[in-house]
Amino acid sequence: MKKFMKGLLATTMVFAMMTSLVGCGGGSEEPAATDEPAAETLIMATNAAFPPYEFYEGDAIVGIDAEVGKAIADKLGMGFTIEDMEFDAIIPAVTSGKASFGMAGMTVTEERLNSVDFSTSYAKGVQVVIVAEGSAITTVDDLFADGASHVIGVQTGTTGDLYSTWDLEEAGLATVERFNKGADAVLALTQGKVDCVVIDNEPAKEFVAANEGLVILDTEYAVEDYAICFAKDSELTAQVNSALEELIADGTVQAIIDKYISAE
Ligand code: GLN
Repeated sequence: MKKFMKGLLATTMVFAMMTSLVGCGGGSEEPAATDEPAAETLIMATNAAFPPYEFYEGDAIVGIDAEVGKAIADKLGMGFTIEDMEFDAIIPAVTSGKASFGMAGMTVTEERLNSVDFSTSYAKGVQVVIVAEGSAITTVDDLFADGASHVIGVQTGTTGDLYSTWDLEEAGLATVERFNKGADAVLALTQGKVDCVVIDNEPAKEFVAANEGLVILDTEYAVEDYAICFAKDSELTAQVNSALEELIADGTVQAIIDKYISAE
């Protein structure tokens, strides 16, 4: 509670605004009825097809991001809801104000920093390459070899898509096939419709475990930082970020990660 108060003092303006919005400032009027969710509910935009960060367990969206997002809302004394959407709809949802923030195993990139702000990073990601067992592709370098002409499956708008497009397709070394879900790209790989899939390592492990005959190459394509994205200059950024930093410092985030990712 003490830390929470300190966080609020650091954002006095935001607090003053919130109290007037929720009408708990003593003598202020009830907020007008509106279709918009109450200001004190955090709406997390995600793509719940990215295990173990966000995925469905029955009707519920669970996973590392879902639990860290909820822990942030609890720490701030706010409500919490998750909106599931395509990955490439998350930044537009955040910049238009439909969502409070985006949390989706999202990599911090310079390009994205042109449209959103990012929190402190809470996890590392690695772009890896999934191939069929016995594939002629045995290292990441094989994708860059002179005269290479692979068909690469990716999830639309992800860094796997961006890197494959910029590094390989635009260099005439590959054709990129884009799918709405990573799992659909992996399905295409099992059907021989693509030669490999470039995707984040943790979902890659889950997809490979769920499908016979696939392997993850030992070499890494890229190492990345995952963070929460916000509309530029959003008044929520400082609050959510300080709650996240406290949850990192007190071990809560690591405990949630450990619950979903077992150490090898
Ligand atoms: N880390 C990747 C990115 O930010 C993929 C994230 C995802 O598919 N949810 O693009």
